[in-house]
Amino acid sequence: MIIVLLGPPGAGKGTQAQRIMSSRGIVQLSTGDMLRAAVANQTEVGRKAKEFMDAGKLVTDEIVIGIIADRIEEEDCKNGFLLDGFPRTVAQAEALDDLLENKNLKVDAVIEMKVDDEALVDRITGRYTCAECNAGYHDTNLKPRVAGVCDSCGSTNFKRRADDNRETVVSRLETYHAQTAPLLPYYSGKGVLKTIDGMADIDDVTTQINEVLDAL
Ligand code: ADP
Ligand code: ADP
Ligand code: ZN
Repeated sequence: MIIVLLGPPGAGKGTQAQRIMSSRGIVQLSTGDMLRAAVANQTEVGRKAKEFMDAGKLVTDEIVIGIIADRIEEEDCKNGFLLDGFPRTVAQAEALDDLLENKNLKVDAVIEMKVDDEALVDRITGRYTCAECNAGYHDTNLKPRVAGVCDSCGSTNFKRRADDNRETVVSRLETYHAQTAPLLPYYSGKGVLKTIDGMADIDDVTTQINEVLDAL
């Protein structure tokens, strides 16, 4: 099963991807997480990506397509994968189709998570994650059960992303509407687009996604 989660920054892609990963046993491939790891490790890719990420702009197609092309060859992708944050341009979507076609595979479903821009700013500025296991939280929408302690691993270290500030969010939303929204007609033309209400609460969004996946 090859699934794409599509939606603006803060739509809930990472939150839902973590849930689907644990309930269905398929891996989450987040290009954002991979790029942040490359930046932290100061690799060549990380050095090239950093200034685009800090500005809320897209990293070049060449870089992210290269990352995904390598990643989907790994053993844990054999039974399918869930793409979170890729593709983000039509060129990336076409490259993905080509990569999959070479393996006699295709994208089974693209799940569009629809959320109003106003809600996104609040979601992004309130977002933080566990520094140890990457579990996602929010200042008001999703707090750990015990304040200051990660539900999943018990760590007390949390982190916020450098680009999760109000100024960069505006630029990221513009980027989404200009460069990523054209993927909606692209995938709808292929008959694989499923749109869900991303404004609903977190559990309800999970239910909607499970309904889509169960129907495949
Ligand atoms: P994305 O991966 O699409 O950028 P995230 O999954 O990181 O988005 O979600 C952004 C923030 O919003 C997180 O802090 C998360 O806890 C919170 N969040 C996710 N889904 C919802 C929802 N349905 N309602 C309210 N807050 C949400
Ligand atoms: P969010 O879901 O909150 O927008 P991500 O973690 O998916 O954030 O991405 C963070 C940043 O990483 C993006 O703003 C962009 O600079 C870069 N990035 C991630 N995925 C891609 C991609 N597929 N193409 C180009 N740039 C990407
Ligand atoms: Zn944790």
